[in-house]
Amino acid sequence: MDTLSARDQRVIWHPYTQMETAPAPIGMVRGEGALLFDEEGQEYIDATSSWWVNIHGHAHPHIANKIAEQAKLLPHCIFAGYTHAPAVELAERMLPILPGQQDRVFYSDNGSTAVEVALKMAIQYFENTGAPRKKLLAFEGAYHGDTFGAMSVSARSVFTRAFDQYLFDVIFLPLPTAENINTLVAQVQDTGSDMAAFIFEPLLLGSGGMLMYEAGLFDQLLQACKAQGILLIADEILTGFGRTGKNFAMENVPTAPDMVCLSKGLTGGNMALGITTCTKAIFDAFLSQDKLKTLFHGHSFTANPIACAAALASLDIFLDPACAANRARVAAKHAAFAQVLRRQANVKNIRQTGTIIAFEITTTNVDGYTNNLADHLHRFFRAKRVMLRPLGNTLYILAPYVITDEQLERVYTAIVECLEGLQ
Ligand SMILES: *Cc1c(COP(=O)(O)O)cnc(C)c1O
Repeated sequence: MDTLSARDQRVIWHPYTQMETAPAPIGMVRGEGALLFDEEGQEYIDATSSWWVNIHGHAHPHIANKIAEQAKLLPHCIFAGYTHAPAVELAERMLPILPGQQDRVFYSDNGSTAVEVALKMAIQYFENTGAPRKKLLAFEGAYHGDTFGAMSVSARSVFTRAFDQYLFDVIFLPLPTAENINTLVAQVQDTGSDMAAFIFEPLLLGSGGMLMYEAGLFDQLLQACKAQGILLIADEILTGFGRTGKNFAMENVPTAPDMVCLSKGLTGGNMALGITTCTKAIFDAFLSQDKLKTLFHGHSFTANPIACAAALASLDIFLDPACAANRARVAAKHAAFAQVLRRQANVKNIRQTGTIIAFEITTTNVDGYTNNLADHLHRFFRAKRVMLRPLGNTLYILAPYVITDEQLERVYTAIVECLEGLQ
Protein backbone atom coordinates (compact mmCIF):
# COMPACT_ATOMS: atom_id res chain seq x y z
CA MET A 1 0.00 0.00 0.00
CA ASP A 2 1.21 3.49 -0.86
CA THR A 3 1.62 6.08 1.86
CA LEU A 4 -1.20 8.46 2.70
CA SER A 5 0.95 11.18 1.30
CA ALA A 6 1.26 9.46 -2.10
CA ARG A 7 -2.42 8.49 -2.28
CA ASP A 8 -3.41 12.04 -1.34
CA GLN A 9 -1.56 13.46 -4.30
CA ARG A 10 -3.75 11.48 -6.71
CA VAL A 11 -7.15 12.51 -5.32
CA ILE A 12 -7.03 15.59 -3.05
CA TRP A 13 -7.13 19.33 -3.70
CA HIS A 14 -5.84 21.18 -0.61
CA PRO A 15 -6.90 24.60 0.70
CA TYR A 16 -4.76 27.66 -0.11
CA THR A 17 -2.35 25.35 -1.91
CA GLN A 18 -0.74 25.71 -5.32
CA MET A 19 -1.00 22.03 -6.13
CA GLU A 20 1.67 22.15 -8.84
CA THR A 21 4.47 23.37 -6.62
CA ALA A 22 3.47 22.36 -3.09
CA PRO A 23 5.56 19.65 -1.44
CA ALA A 24 3.76 16.37 -0.71
CA PRO A 25 1.58 16.70 2.38
CA ILE A 26 2.60 14.85 5.51
CA GLY A 27 0.18 12.07 6.45
CA MET A 28 -0.92 12.44 10.06
CA VAL A 29 -2.38 9.58 12.04
CA ARG A 30 -2.58 10.52 15.68
CA GLY A 31 -2.53 13.43 18.10
CA GLU A 32 -1.86 13.79 21.80
CA GLY A 33 -1.64 17.09 23.66
CA ALA A 34 0.32 19.53 21.53
CA LEU A 35 1.87 16.69 19.52
CA LEU A 36 0.89 15.07 16.23
CA PHE A 37 2.37 11.85 14.84
CA ASP A 38 2.82 11.11 11.14
CA GLU A 39 2.45 7.80 9.33
CA GLU A 40 6.10 6.98 9.94
CA GLY A 41 5.62 7.53 13.66
CA GLN A 42 7.52 10.81 13.71
CA GLU A 43 6.51 13.44 16.22
CA TYR A 44 5.56 17.04 15.38
CA ILE A 45 4.81 19.96 17.70
CA ASP A 46 1.60 21.66 16.70
CA ALA A 47 2.67 25.28 17.22
CA THR A 48 -0.28 26.72 15.26
CA SER A 49 -3.03 24.76 17.03
CA SER A 50 -3.98 23.10 13.73
CA TRP A 51 -5.06 26.37 12.16
CA TRP A 52 -5.82 28.13 15.43
CA VAL A 53 -8.60 25.80 16.49
CA ASN A 54 -7.09 23.47 19.06
CA ILE A 55 -6.94 24.95 22.54
CA HIS A 56 -6.82 21.97 24.93
CA GLY A 57 -4.60 19.61 22.96
CA HIS A 58 -5.39 16.79 20.54
CA ALA A 59 -7.57 13.81 21.41
CA HIS A 60 -8.46 15.21 24.82
CA PRO A 61 -10.15 12.29 26.67
CA HIS A 62 -12.98 14.37 28.19
CA ILE A 63 -13.96 15.84 24.82
CA ALA A 64 -13.51 12.50 23.04
CA ASN A 65 -15.78 10.76 25.57
CA LYS A 66 -18.52 13.38 25.27
CA ILE A 67 -18.38 13.17 21.48
CA ALA A 68 -18.67 9.37 21.63
CA GLU A 69 -21.59 9.50 24.09
CA GLN A 70 -23.48 11.96 21.92
CA ALA A 71 -22.77 9.94 18.76
CA LYS A 72 -24.44 6.93 20.37
CA LEU A 73 -27.42 8.96 21.60
CA LEU A 74 -28.38 11.50 18.90
CA PRO A 75 -25.74 12.32 16.29
CA HIS A 76 -27.85 14.73 14.28
CA CYS A 77 -31.33 16.20 14.12
CA ILE A 78 -33.04 18.84 11.96
CA PHE A 79 -32.89 22.13 13.86
CA ALA A 80 -36.01 23.87 12.53
CA GLY A 81 -39.04 22.74 14.49
CA TYR A 82 -36.88 20.48 16.69
CA THR A 83 -34.25 21.01 19.32
CA HIS A 84 -31.92 18.96 21.54
CA ALA A 85 -30.11 19.11 24.85
CA PRO A 86 -26.56 19.89 23.67
CA ALA A 87 -27.71 22.97 21.68
CA VAL A 88 -29.90 24.29 24.50
CA GLU A 89 -27.33 23.67 27.20
CA LEU A 90 -24.51 25.22 25.17
CA ALA A 91 -26.57 28.39 24.54
CA GLU A 92 -27.51 28.54 28.24
CA ARG A 93 -23.87 28.28 29.27
CA MET A 94 -22.40 30.57 26.57
CA LEU A 95 -24.71 33.59 26.75
CA PRO A 96 -23.84 34.62 30.33
CA ILE A 97 -20.07 34.46 29.75
CA LEU A 98 -20.03 36.42 26.48
CA PRO A 99 -19.24 40.15 26.38
CA GLY A 100 -22.26 42.47 26.27
CA GLN A 101 -25.85 41.46 26.87
CA GLN A 102 -25.97 38.58 24.41
CA ASP A 103 -29.49 37.20 24.39
CA ARG A 104 -29.75 34.61 21.59
CA VAL A 105 -27.53 32.02 19.93
CA PHE A 106 -27.83 31.30 16.21
CA TYR A 107 -25.93 28.16 15.19
CA SER A 108 -24.06 27.43 11.97
CA ASP A 109 -21.07 25.25 11.23
CA ASN A 110 -17.92 27.33 10.75
CA GLY A 111 -16.43 30.78 11.16
CA SER A 112 -17.31 32.11 7.72
CA THR A 113 -20.94 31.10 8.14
CA ALA A 114 -21.04 32.68 11.61
CA VAL A 115 -19.92 35.91 9.90
CA GLU A 116 -22.46 35.56 7.08
CA VAL A 117 -25.22 35.17 9.66
CA ALA A 118 -24.07 38.28 11.55
CA LEU A 119 -23.99 40.38 8.36
CA LYS A 120 -27.44 39.18 7.35
CA MET A 121 -28.78 39.86 10.84
CA ALA A 122 -27.38 43.39 10.79
CA ILE A 123 -28.67 44.28 7.32
CA GLN A 124 -32.09 42.75 7.88
CA TYR A 125 -32.35 44.29 11.35
CA PHE A 126 -32.44 47.76 9.77
CA GLU A 127 -34.69 46.51 6.97
CA ASN A 128 -37.13 45.08 9.52
CA THR A 129 -37.18 48.26 11.60
CA GLY A 130 -38.19 50.26 8.51
CA ALA A 131 -35.01 52.35 8.39
CA PRO A 132 -32.72 50.44 6.04
CA ARG A 133 -28.99 51.14 6.12
CA LYS A 134 -26.83 50.18 3.17
CA LYS A 135 -23.19 50.31 4.23
CA LEU A 136 -20.78 48.17 6.21
CA LEU A 137 -17.59 49.11 7.95
CA ALA A 138 -14.50 46.93 8.46
CA PHE A 139 -10.78 47.27 9.13
CA GLU A 140 -8.14 47.44 6.42
CA GLY A 141 -6.30 44.13 6.49
CA ALA A 142 -9.26 42.34 8.07
CA TYR A 143 -10.01 38.67 7.58
CA HIS A 144 -13.51 37.35 8.25
CA GLY A 145 -13.65 34.21 6.12
CA ASP A 146 -13.74 32.85 2.58
CA THR A 147 -17.42 32.84 1.63
CA PHE A 148 -18.58 35.79 -0.49
CA GLY A 149 -20.08 37.94 2.26
CA ALA A 150 -17.15 37.24 4.55
CA MET A 151 -14.69 37.94 1.71
CA SER A 152 -16.47 41.24 1.02
CA VAL A 153 -15.84 42.51 4.55
CA SER A 154 -12.24 41.24 4.39
CA ALA A 155 -9.22 42.96 2.86
CA ARG A 156 -8.92 42.76 -0.90
CA SER A 157 -5.77 40.69 -1.46
CA VAL A 158 -4.24 38.00 -3.63
CA PHE A 159 -6.70 35.65 -1.94
CA THR A 160 -9.73 37.58 -3.23
CA ARG A 161 -8.34 38.95 -6.51
CA ALA A 162 -10.23 36.62 -8.85
CA PHE A 163 -13.51 37.56 -7.17
CA ASP A 164 -13.08 41.25 -6.39
CA GLN A 165 -15.71 42.41 -8.89
CA TYR A 166 -18.29 40.13 -7.27
CA LEU A 167 -17.72 41.44 -3.73
CA PHE A 168 -19.96 44.14 -2.31
CA ASP A 169 -18.58 47.54 -1.33
CA VAL A 170 -17.38 48.01 2.20
CA ILE A 171 -15.77 51.04 3.83
CA PHE A 172 -12.40 50.05 5.25
CA LEU A 173 -10.83 51.95 8.13
CA PRO A 174 -7.15 51.78 9.10
CA LEU A 175 -6.39 50.36 12.55
CA PRO A 176 -6.75 53.11 15.14
CA THR A 177 -3.59 54.98 16.17
CA ALA A 178 -3.04 58.04 18.34
CA GLU A 179 -2.47 59.99 15.10
CA ASN A 180 -5.57 58.91 13.15
CA ILE A 181 -8.20 58.36 15.83
CA ASN A 182 -9.80 61.82 15.51
CA THR A 183 -10.08 61.42 11.74
CA LEU A 184 -11.62 57.96 12.14
CA VAL A 185 -14.18 59.22 14.63
CA ALA A 186 -15.07 62.14 12.32
CA GLN A 187 -15.45 59.72 9.40
CA VAL A 188 -17.84 57.56 11.41
CA GLN A 189 -19.83 60.65 12.42
CA ASP A 190 -20.11 61.74 8.76
CA THR A 191 -21.28 58.45 7.25
CA GLY A 192 -22.85 56.92 10.35
CA SER A 193 -26.53 57.22 9.57
CA ASP A 194 -26.25 54.96 6.50
CA MET A 195 -23.93 52.47 8.19
CA ALA A 196 -25.53 49.18 9.28
CA ALA A 197 -22.63 47.53 11.07
CA PHE A 198 -18.96 47.59 11.91
CA ILE A 199 -17.37 44.15 11.86
CA PHE A 200 -13.96 43.79 13.49
CA GLU A 201 -11.47 41.34 14.94
CA PRO A 202 -11.03 42.81 18.44
CA LEU A 203 -7.43 43.81 19.26
CA LEU A 204 -5.84 41.25 16.95
CA LEU A 205 -6.02 40.93 13.16
CA GLY A 206 -5.12 37.28 12.71
CA SER A 207 -4.77 36.39 9.03
CA GLY A 208 -3.93 40.02 8.27
CA GLY A 209 -0.53 39.33 9.89
CA MET A 210 -1.15 39.00 13.65
CA LEU A 211 -1.46 42.78 13.90
CA MET A 212 -2.25 44.08 17.36
CA TYR A 213 -3.81 47.42 18.22
CA GLU A 214 -4.57 49.38 21.33
CA ALA A 215 -7.75 48.86 23.35
CA GLY A 216 -8.30 52.50 24.44
CA LEU A 217 -8.22 53.89 20.88
CA PHE A 218 -10.33 50.99 19.67
CA ASP A 219 -12.93 51.81 22.30
CA GLN A 220 -13.11 55.43 21.12
CA LEU A 221 -13.93 54.15 17.65
CA LEU A 222 -16.54 51.74 19.02
CA GLN A 223 -18.18 54.53 21.02
CA ALA A 224 -18.38 56.72 17.91
CA CYS A 225 -20.12 53.85 16.11
CA LYS A 226 -22.51 53.28 19.01
CA ALA A 227 -23.46 56.97 18.96
CA GLN A 228 -24.49 56.57 15.31
CA GLY A 229 -26.51 53.42 15.99
CA ILE A 230 -24.03 51.30 14.03
CA LEU A 231 -24.23 47.67 15.13
CA LEU A 232 -20.97 46.28 16.48
CA ILE A 233 -20.07 42.77 15.31
CA ALA A 234 -17.18 41.28 17.29
CA ASP A 235 -15.55 38.54 15.22
CA GLU A 236 -14.01 36.56 18.10
CA ILE A 237 -13.50 33.49 15.93
CA LEU A 238 -9.77 33.62 16.66
CA THR A 239 -9.63 35.76 19.80
CA GLY A 240 -12.40 33.91 21.68
CA PHE A 241 -11.72 31.33 24.38
CA GLY A 242 -8.69 32.86 25.96
CA ARG A 243 -6.31 33.55 23.10
CA THR A 244 -5.63 37.15 24.14
CA GLY A 245 -5.49 36.39 27.86
CA LYS A 246 -9.06 37.25 28.87
CA ASN A 247 -11.83 34.81 28.01
CA PHE A 248 -12.92 37.07 25.14
CA ALA A 249 -10.96 39.98 23.64
CA MET A 250 -13.97 42.31 24.01
CA GLU A 251 -13.49 42.08 27.79
CA ASN A 252 -10.61 44.52 27.26
CA VAL A 253 -12.94 47.37 26.26
CA PRO A 254 -15.95 48.86 28.08
CA THR A 255 -18.10 49.13 24.95
CA ALA A 256 -20.26 46.04 24.42
CA PRO A 257 -20.73 44.33 21.05
CA ASP A 258 -24.23 43.80 19.62
CA MET A 259 -23.20 40.52 18.05
CA VAL A 260 -20.43 38.01 18.60
CA CYS A 261 -19.13 35.42 16.12
CA LEU A 262 -17.42 32.30 17.42
CA SER A 263 -15.97 29.13 15.89
CA LYS A 264 -12.36 27.81 15.86
CA GLY A 265 -11.75 27.15 19.60
CA LEU A 266 -15.46 26.72 20.30
CA THR A 267 -15.33 22.91 20.21
CA GLY A 268 -11.72 22.87 21.38
CA GLY A 269 -10.95 22.39 17.70
CA ASN A 270 -12.66 19.02 17.54
CA MET A 271 -15.80 19.57 15.49
CA ALA A 272 -17.02 22.15 12.99
CA LEU A 273 -19.39 24.56 14.70
CA GLY A 274 -20.18 28.26 14.42
CA ILE A 275 -22.14 30.56 16.69
CA THR A 276 -23.53 34.04 16.09
CA THR A 277 -25.04 35.70 19.13
CA CYS A 278 -27.07 38.88 19.29
CA THR A 279 -28.74 41.20 21.77
CA LYS A 280 -32.44 41.16 22.58
CA ALA A 281 -33.00 44.35 20.56
CA ILE A 282 -31.75 42.63 17.40
CA PHE A 283 -33.67 39.43 18.04
CA ASP A 284 -36.87 41.35 18.75
CA ALA A 285 -36.69 43.18 15.41
CA PHE A 286 -37.27 39.82 13.68
CA LEU A 287 -40.42 38.99 15.70
CA SER A 288 -43.49 39.64 13.59
CA GLN A 289 -46.67 38.20 12.13
CA ASP A 290 -45.08 39.20 8.82
CA LYS A 291 -43.14 36.20 7.46
CA LEU A 292 -40.83 38.53 5.51
CA LYS A 293 -39.26 39.59 8.78
CA THR A 294 -37.93 36.05 9.38
CA LEU A 295 -34.18 35.41 9.26
CA PHE A 296 -34.13 32.99 6.33
CA HIS A 297 -30.83 31.30 6.96
CA GLY A 298 -29.75 27.81 7.98
CA HIS A 299 -27.40 24.94 7.22
CA SER A 300 -27.94 21.19 7.12
CA PHE A 301 -25.57 20.79 10.06
CA THR A 302 -26.85 23.76 12.06
CA ALA A 303 -26.32 23.01 15.77
CA ASN A 304 -25.06 19.49 15.11
CA PRO A 305 -25.48 17.70 18.47
CA ILE A 306 -22.04 16.04 18.39
CA ALA A 307 -20.43 19.41 17.72
CA CYS A 308 -22.44 21.03 20.53
CA ALA A 309 -21.43 18.18 22.87
CA ALA A 310 -17.79 18.78 21.94
CA ALA A 311 -18.25 22.50 22.66
CA LEU A 312 -19.78 21.75 26.07
CA ALA A 313 -16.91 19.44 26.96
CA SER A 314 -14.40 22.02 25.76
CA LEU A 315 -16.14 24.65 27.88
CA ASP A 316 -15.77 22.43 30.99
CA ILE A 317 -12.02 22.38 30.46
CA PHE A 318 -11.83 26.04 29.46
CA LEU A 319 -13.59 27.25 32.63
CA ASP A 320 -11.42 25.09 34.90
CA PRO A 321 -8.79 27.29 36.63
CA ALA A 322 -6.12 24.92 35.30
CA CYS A 323 -6.75 26.31 31.81
CA ALA A 324 -6.21 29.92 32.90
CA ALA A 325 -3.04 28.79 34.69
CA ASN A 326 -1.77 27.14 31.50
CA ARG A 327 -2.50 30.27 29.49
CA ALA A 328 -0.62 32.42 32.01
CA ARG A 329 2.31 29.97 31.91
CA VAL A 330 2.50 30.05 28.10
CA ALA A 331 2.17 33.85 28.09
CA ALA A 332 5.05 34.17 30.58
CA LYS A 333 7.24 31.81 28.52
CA HIS A 334 6.52 33.87 25.39
CA ALA A 335 7.38 37.10 27.23
CA ALA A 336 10.77 35.61 28.15
CA PHE A 337 11.29 34.43 24.57
CA ALA A 338 10.53 37.97 23.36
CA GLN A 339 13.72 39.04 25.22
CA VAL A 340 15.68 36.39 23.31
CA LEU A 341 14.18 37.60 20.03
CA ARG A 342 15.15 41.19 20.78
CA ARG A 343 18.79 40.11 20.57
CA GLN A 344 18.29 38.82 17.00
CA ALA A 345 19.39 41.20 14.25
CA ASN A 346 16.87 40.13 11.60
CA VAL A 347 13.70 40.47 13.64
CA LYS A 348 11.35 43.43 14.10
CA ASN A 349 7.96 44.31 15.60
CA ILE A 350 8.01 41.69 18.34
CA ARG A 351 4.54 41.69 19.88
CA GLN A 352 2.46 39.51 22.13
CA THR A 353 -1.09 39.18 23.28
CA GLY A 354 -1.89 36.37 25.69
CA THR A 355 -0.68 33.06 24.25
CA ILE A 356 0.22 34.51 20.83
CA ILE A 357 3.66 35.93 20.03
CA ALA A 358 4.45 37.33 16.58
CA PHE A 359 7.27 39.16 14.82
CA GLU A 360 8.54 40.00 11.35
CA ILE A 361 11.67 38.54 9.80
CA THR A 362 13.57 41.25 7.96
CA THR A 363 15.82 38.96 5.89
CA THR A 364 14.50 38.95 2.34
CA ASN A 365 17.05 37.13 0.20
CA VAL A 366 17.04 33.60 1.53
CA ASP A 367 19.28 31.38 -0.53
CA GLY A 368 20.61 30.65 -3.99
CA TYR A 369 17.45 29.26 -5.53
CA THR A 370 14.67 31.34 -4.17
CA ASN A 371 14.06 34.60 -2.43
CA ASN A 372 10.69 33.40 -1.21
CA LEU A 373 11.05 33.59 2.55
CA ALA A 374 7.71 31.94 3.28
CA ASP A 375 8.64 28.81 1.27
CA HIS A 376 12.00 28.65 2.98
CA LEU A 377 10.38 28.92 6.42
CA HIS A 378 7.84 26.22 5.62
CA ARG A 379 10.59 23.84 4.53
CA PHE A 380 12.80 24.68 7.49
CA PHE A 381 10.16 24.10 10.15
CA ARG A 382 8.81 20.99 8.46
CA ALA A 383 12.28 19.52 8.58
CA LYS A 384 12.48 20.43 12.30
CA ARG A 385 9.05 18.85 12.84
CA VAL A 386 7.70 22.05 14.31
CA MET A 387 4.38 22.95 12.75
CA LEU A 388 4.55 26.70 12.13
CA ARG A 389 2.80 28.41 9.26
CA PRO A 390 4.18 31.91 8.71
CA LEU A 391 2.02 34.63 7.16
CA GLY A 392 4.46 36.02 4.59
CA ASN A 393 7.45 37.20 6.63
CA THR A 394 5.42 37.20 9.85
CA LEU A 395 6.25 34.32 12.11
CA TYR A 396 3.99 33.57 15.07
CA ILE A 397 3.43 30.92 17.70
CA LEU A 398 -0.17 30.05 18.54
CA ALA A 399 -0.05 26.71 20.31
CA PRO A 400 -2.62 24.73 22.31
CA TYR A 401 -2.63 25.98 25.92
CA VAL A 402 -1.44 22.57 27.12
CA ILE A 403 1.86 22.76 25.25
CA THR A 404 4.54 21.87 27.80
CA ASP A 405 7.48 24.12 28.71
CA GLU A 406 9.83 21.60 27.16
CA GLN A 407 7.84 21.57 23.90
CA LEU A 408 7.79 25.37 23.85
CA GLU A 409 11.57 25.38 24.29
CA ARG A 410 11.87 23.11 21.24
CA VAL A 411 9.76 25.57 19.22
CA TYR A 412 11.87 28.53 20.42
CA THR A 413 15.11 26.71 19.64
CA ALA A 414 13.95 25.91 16.11
CA ILE A 415 13.03 29.56 15.56
CA VAL A 416 16.38 30.83 16.84
CA GLU A 417 18.21 28.31 14.61
CA CYS A 418 16.16 29.48 11.67
CA LEU A 419 16.90 33.14 12.36
CA GLU A 420 20.60 32.50 12.82
CA GLY A 421 20.68 30.53 9.57
CA LEU A 422 19.20 33.51 7.75
CA GLN A 423 21.84 35.96 8.97
C1 LIG B 1 -10.59 31.74 10.69
C2 LIG B 1 -11.36 32.99 10.81
C3 LIG B 1 -12.60 33.15 10.18
C4 LIG B 1 -13.19 32.11 9.28
O1 LIG B 1 -13.47 30.91 9.92
P1 LIG B 1 -13.56 29.55 9.08
O2 LIG B 1 -14.08 28.55 10.05
O3 LIG B 1 -12.17 29.25 8.61
O4 LIG B 1 -14.50 29.80 7.94
C5 LIG B 1 -13.28 34.32 10.40
N1 LIG B 1 -12.79 35.29 11.18
C6 LIG B 1 -11.61 35.17 11.82
C7 LIG B 1 -11.12 36.26 12.70
C8 LIG B 1 -10.84 34.02 11.64
O5 LIG B 1 -9.64 33.92 12.22
